[in-house]
Amino acid sequence: MNDIIRKVCVIGAGTMGAGIAAQVANAGVPVVLLDIVPKDGENRNAIAEGAVARMLKTEPAPFMSKAAAKLVETGNIEDHLDKVAECDWVIEAVIERLDIKQGLYAKLEAVKREGTAVSSNTSTIPLAHLVEGRSDGFKRDFLITHFFNPPRYMRLLEIVTGPATDAAVADKVERFADVAMGKTVVHAKDTPGFIANRIGTYWIQLGLNAAFDMGLTVEQADAIAGKPMGVPKTGIFGLVDLVGIDLMPHLQASLTSTLPKDDPYQEIARSHPLIEKLISEGFTGRKGKGGFYRLNRDMGRRKEALDLATGEYREKTSARGPSGRAAKGDLRALVETRGAVGEYAWAILGGTLAYAAALVPSAAADVVAVDDAMKLGYNWKSGPFEMIDTLGAQYLAERLEAEGKPVPEILRLAGERTFYRIEDGKRQFLGLDGEYHDVVRPEGVLRLADIKLASGPLLKNGSAALWDVGDGVACLEFTGKMNALDGDVMKLIVEAIPLVSARFKALVVYNDADSFSAGANLGLALFAINIAAYGEVEKLVAGGQMAYKGLKYAPFPVVGAPAGLAVGGGCEILLHCDAIQAHAELYTGLVECGVGLIPGWGGNGEMIDRARKAPMMPKGPMPAVAKVFETVSTATVSKSAAQAKEMLFLRPDDGITMNRDRLLHDAKQKALSLVEGYAPPEAPEFRLPGEGGHVALNMAAQGFHKRGMATDYDMVVSDALATVLTGGEADLVDTVSEQELLKLERETFMRLVREPRSIARVEHMLETGKPLRN
Ligand code: NAD
Repeated sequence: MNDIIRKVCVIGAGTMGAGIAAQVANAGVPVVLLDIVPKDGENRNAIAEGAVARMLKTEPAPFMSKAAAKLVETGNIEDHLDKVAECDWVIEAVIERLDIKQGLYAKLEAVKREGTAVSSNTSTIPLAHLVEGRSDGFKRDFLITHFFNPPRYMRLLEIVTGPATDAAVADKVERFADVAMGKTVVHAKDTPGFIANRIGTYWIQLGLNAAFDMGLTVEQADAIAGKPMGVPKTGIFGLVDLVGIDLMPHLQASLTSTLPKDDPYQEIARSHPLIEKLISEGFTGRKGKGGFYRLNRDMGRRKEALDLATGEYREKTSARGPSGRAAKGDLRALVETRGAVGEYAWAILGGTLAYAAALVPSAAADVVAVDDAMKLGYNWKSGPFEMIDTLGAQYLAERLEAEGKPVPEILRLAGERTFYRIEDGKRQFLGLDGEYHDVVRPEGVLRLADIKLASGPLLKNGSAALWDVGDGVACLEFTGKMNALDGDVMKLIVEAIPLVSARFKALVVYNDADSFSAGANLGLALFAINIAAYGEVEKLVAGGQMAYKGLKYAPFPVVGAPAGLAVGGGCEILLHCDAIQAHAELYTGLVECGVGLIPGWGGNGEMIDRARKAPMMPKGPMPAVAKVFETVSTATVSKSAAQAKEMLFLRPDDGITMNRDRLLHDAKQKALSLVEGYAPPEAPEFRLPGEGGHVALNMAAQGFHKRGMATDYDMVVSDALATVLTGGEADLVDTVSEQELLKLERETFMRLVREPRSIARVEHMLETGKPLRN
């Protein structure tokens, strides 16, 4: 049987279907997107076409690049259902109605090939009902794949198979969803709401009920059931606003009708008159006229919150949440805080954790599945069982017992033990047999955290560390706040080079954090500037240039493996690597101009070198320099790795990994592939356009200025950038060496550092996190 997915068909081009199709396309795989023929209008494909057009304008963008959007072929189910025969996987994402889904499957059965997987994105309908009336062959190819919204950004995919599902078909889908689409698969049983929404809905309902019953304000409630619990700071009311208040009654109705009568959810499911009123009047949250919170545009964009007692909006206040340990993840301290804080926290946590604990093994095979589902589907920092470990399983059991509530079997099984432990450098979980078992990662999944459990660093200081990640590969990790870069990082790089060349084959630059690096530590730089210690600043610039060039010319291959934010100096280190293996979600760029500076760690020369070698780049010194100027002067940041390639931060043959958990493994493989016959690159010689080019770049910048897109000071900064990129005084006939260009970069950087308006930009960025447009 063919186990490769080469083409996918998504049926239903609504919120989910369109987003899922986009993610298939982001994986580089062609996808057919079908919907019904609209009742009126000439264009029979209007719904699917409209969905793609809308997605091209949506932020955050469902597509990672324009090229991806071109992989989506649109159509309708009346004229184009035969295209299913070309596909290896059909994903059904039509409205949540059993009759419609069943009707569609009957038609699919007639056109699909044997072995083509069919999956439903249903949130609530049991698999057993979906396949009623279908042939055995169809049932073998059928499963549920439950994506989360938005499909590009939410990492969880719950997969449910039926008793008849062919394991090979399910494996094929799972592998594609994991490796190509970047999802982390959690296996769920065929029970209502699966895992994440079952627990999530219970948690939200408890939070709403308790806030109404206790007479809390929405701000108070969210200050407790937000960050202190390790869940997103939107809390519960903020989250309901985000997903849509009108979704709540649907979820409630579906769960109360499908869950057994003795399920604890039945007791807490409750409709609140205020919520019904909000929905009926169109106050459905962020997508509607407002929700529990809103921005009142008639009152100068005043931030408002809804008074739960009166149903009227009033100015949003900042509620005093928990303090001390209770605010910092100590759940025991949180639930034991006196007064409303502890009471509300316990009402939610005690209830939700007990509910989650009772779902193993009926809804999930083990505790790991439950924890993964909540971390990836609801963005919780820790899963319910990890939270129980923080609280104490015994403590939870005793407190539930004292309140006369049932104690889930698994809590008794744990007793005084924790659900997770580290044994022989491996993370283990408590199984239903009462024994600990290794948490097994799929092949090709590797995190630095795994390495850290089993070994110590080779080198370490306050801002960076060096690890042995196996197979002769070392890993350079940044460890500072936001992985900011400073003198210690540079020092560690310099120390690492001889160590890696003596004992390893290759180096990867990688860390587990959400942000690869926010760039140079501006706080430190500003401190030095404020005491006029310019020598220190220059040392940092020169030290960084030297360290990065050291990496570039080291006798071993270096592979950068960024994920998330990689800006400024965090982008420059990547530019010095032999190759990059990037996570698909890469936000990279040289943003120095935004803070009144220019790249100072060799980024200018490296960008010019990349640009002049880029395919399709016209010959001659000017086009490459103009392209770099355009990107860097506007501090452009990519919104995906695919875009980073278009912007030339990545080279055409740099790798992209869709699944975050596979990045380190893939980067290692890339590094190892470069080992044989490795020779460091030759130092480039630049032919730069000189003064004439400088004038041309300034004229281009003036164009922006005239249109009001650049400030007066932007002109000063971009002029400094143009000086470096064009080679300063160099004449077109001269060649500029890499070292000369570094010197020019350093001197120009040092000139800007002394400018009061640059300093104001740096200060503003540090205070607000936003650029100052002075
Ligand atoms: P939606 O209402 O946005 O889109 C449904 C689409 O299905 C519409 O474009 C509609 O025209 C189309 N459609 C209806 N009948 C059809 C048919 N016979 N053939 C082809 N297309 C048809 O809905 P949605 O939110 O995208 O949900 C789709 C599915 O995904 C549902 O099963 C839902 O439960 C599930 N789901 C939704 C979310 C979410 O957050 N919205 C999350 C996970 C799962």
